[in-house]
Amino acid sequence: GTPKQPKNCSSLLEELVEQARQAPRGGQVADYIPALAEVDPDHVGIAVVELDGTVHTAGDAHVPFSIQSISKIFGLAMAMSRTDDTLWERVRMEPSGQAFNSVVQLEWEHGIPRNPFINAGAIVIADVLTSRYSASKTAFLQYVRYLAGKESISADHRVWESEKQHGNRNAALAYLMKSFGNIESDVPAVLDHYFFQCAVSMSCVDLAKSLAFLANKGVQPGSEERICDARSAHRINALLSTSGMYDQSGEFAFTVGLPAKSGVGGGIVAVVPDYGVICAWSPPLNRFGNPARAVSMITDFAQRLGLSVYH
Ligand code: GLU
Repeated sequence: GTPKQPKNCSSLLEELVEQARQAPRGGQVADYIPALAEVDPDHVGIAVVELDGTVHTAGDAHVPFSIQSISKIFGLAMAMSRTDDTLWERVRMEPSGQAFNSVVQLEWEHGIPRNPFINAGAIVIADVLTSRYSASKTAFLQYVRYLAGKESISADHRVWESEKQHGNRNAALAYLMKSFGNIESDVPAVLDHYFFQCAVSMSCVDLAKSLAFLANKGVQPGSEERICDARSAHRINALLSTSGMYDQSGEFAFTVGLPAKSGVGGGIVAVVPDYGVICAWSPPLNRFGNPARAVSMITDFAQRLGLSVYH
């Protein structure tokens, strides 16, 4: 249905940030690399970008953070524009029901990941980008800068380096898939691209702006440039709805009902078709690896405005 237009979106966002600041942190910040462990757990921000270009913000909405798994959306959109439906022979479209970095499932399923948002799937997508672009990291950065309309977006090199140093599980996934013939390029090059895209820093405003095309059938509002065809936008949203929130994807569909993706840097983006994109950020993660206070802010926002796509 058509979302109810918020009468005063900005004051609602202020209220949500205030509530989030008073709520318990809801977990610990990601600590698998030092650069992420040092992030101030008390950051709270939210941004809403509507299709007419209106931007509402509250709290730390302009502070850049590590986008981590949210980068998997950009990677997928790029790969879909450079490939055809044979992509779906290399990565499936099913929720995994396993941890985002699970190795066992990959062996049972002969090196074909369940979906592009678990690590194994995103590594296959990184392989597609590595083999289809002569300089895939530069291309990735250009793509997000273009989408966000902000030339200063870049990767945090300290995060990138530590991801590589602590990336043994991801390396295991990549080599296992290579052994099944599902990785074309050299594994170190593919991992280098994957870690680079995870290490990109963006703010809530940057992320909400850059993904607005997903709420607008593939056309970026403002520039009116077509980023992907309507079918690809629809498919990315469907995958986000079923697999974007780790092992909490079912619950998130049940309570919120929006295509969404979280990352271990504490960000979540949620797409509201025909309305806009919401991005919330709070670093501490719940037991599913989702940022607890950011989940609550998006949940409240969506419920109060009746935004679920399942209405
Ligand atoms: N760089 C992280 C990893 O690959 C991303 C995890 C995430 O945000 O889910 O382990």
